[in-house]
Amino acid sequence: MDGAKPSDAISAAFAAQRAKVEERRLQFGLTERRAALDKLARAIRQHEAAIIAALQQDFGKPEAETILSEILPVMQEIRHTSRHLRRWMKPKRALPSLATFGTSAQVVAQPRGVCLIVAPWNYPFNLCLGPLVSCLAAGNSAILKPSEMTPATSALIARLIADVFPPDLVTVIEGGKDVSQALLALPFDHIFFTGSPAVGRIVMAAAAKHLTSVTLELGGKSPTIVGRDANIEQAAKWILFGKFVNAGQTCIAPDHLFVHRAVKDDFLTALRAEIAKAYGSGAASPHLAKIVNDQHAARLTGLLADAKAKGARLLSGGNAQGRAIEPTLIEAITPEMEIDREEIFGPILPVMTYDDIEPVLARINARPKPLALYVFDRDQARVQHILDATTSGGAGVNLTVMQYTHDGLPFGGVNNSGIGAAHGEYGFRAFSHERAVLRNRFSLLTLIFPPYEGRTRRLIDLAKRFLG
Ligand code: NAD
Repeated sequence: MDGAKPSDAISAAFAAQRAKVEERRLQFGLTERRAALDKLARAIRQHEAAIIAALQQDFGKPEAETILSEILPVMQEIRHTSRHLRRWMKPKRALPSLATFGTSAQVVAQPRGVCLIVAPWNYPFNLCLGPLVSCLAAGNSAILKPSEMTPATSALIARLIADVFPPDLVTVIEGGKDVSQALLALPFDHIFFTGSPAVGRIVMAAAAKHLTSVTLELGGKSPTIVGRDANIEQAAKWILFGKFVNAGQTCIAPDHLFVHRAVKDDFLTALRAEIAKAYGSGAASPHLAKIVNDQHAARLTGLLADAKAKGARLLSGGNAQGRAIEPTLIEAITPEMEIDREEIFGPILPVMTYDDIEPVLARINARPKPLALYVFDRDQARVQHILDATTSGGAGVNLTVMQYTHDGLPFGGVNNSGIGAAHGEYGFRAFSHERAVLRNRFSLLTLIFPPYEGRTRRLIDLAKRFLG
């Protein structure tokens, strides 16, 4: 990391954006920001077929999933942001306290300046352009670094952005780890990183050198609990969708399940039936995305082989043909297995059985804080206890993954699963500096200025009495 030096092209791209920061601060207002978002929306509409084709080429993503999970979320983010931007940009008044009586106070959202957005491969379009919407809405410029693992989508993003924006506002720099590290060596005003906790640490360490603020959208192992009063059919349908959409390569996918013994058999029967209905048998369903590359496919088959060798039992699935891996259920997981430690990030679902919820909660709390936690149960008191006893970036009750799509909710993790939040107003604020502005109107505070004699002492005594 220390050796990473920005190339001339990277330094020039950064310098071009940096040179415009002051001008943008004065001239990139509500109208211009909305116009930029409009242009982006138009370009996405025009490139829809190319986006679908790129994702198909990169990892066989079904068209419906590309529309639902890559294109529509970005369009929705644009729409929601354009509609509410005026309100978000408006300075917020803060009421005075005793000490600030006679002043007027505002919180003013200012652009941070030049931002770096580093994106992962699993939703390569959405997770690159979604943050860009918030970044532009907050009045910043951006350098985008899409993932090298999805080269067709990255190239398409580079073309689309070059068509729409001047490089001193938005530019794309393609490349892998080395390019990413070269970018991270620059003094950005904000870094918005989406990826693994391991790389998140590298990003935060690089940001520390310049005291650059960061938003880290990371991952982890999201637990899912199916309680004894769960609606079994509903749980099976939602868990199927959350786990197997994008072939399990989803940061908020249920990573593993804890199912109450009383409903386990019924639940597994329902889940197997849902899998058969959605994907048929075998690994080659057109409704199931492929694994992004051979290396990740080998990692997943390796996780499965390691688990089986250490005593895990296959409940269904288990077939793999190259980068196509069948939805797979396994049980009898132990802590010695890699699958119990590593974020699975693929269509393999370990199922654990429990009788008492307390050891399950203790186990969840003993591990790094997850990005998501899901609970299926009709007993609201039991659900509330699980929510109260644990923490996670977000949580879903009787559903999965939809917390991502709600415009009014912050999307982000906690510690190991992330720092800060994205989406809607939360995304706008992530890319804004909230500047405190206090204006003097008739402040009486000059009365306590030195020399600290009789009158000042009396005022201090008064303030002490008032504050108790
Ligand atoms: P990754 O961390 O390997 O890569 C993400 C980005 O970082 C890529 O652009 C990559 O080029 C760059 N990068 C990789 N290694 C680097 C290094 N050593 N130094 C600097 N930059 C580096 O993540 P991934 O494999 O692309 O994505 C999967 C991970 O992302 C999973 O952990 C998943 O849970 C997480 N994720 C989180 C969210 C979220 O919103 N919280 C969304 C999607 C994925």
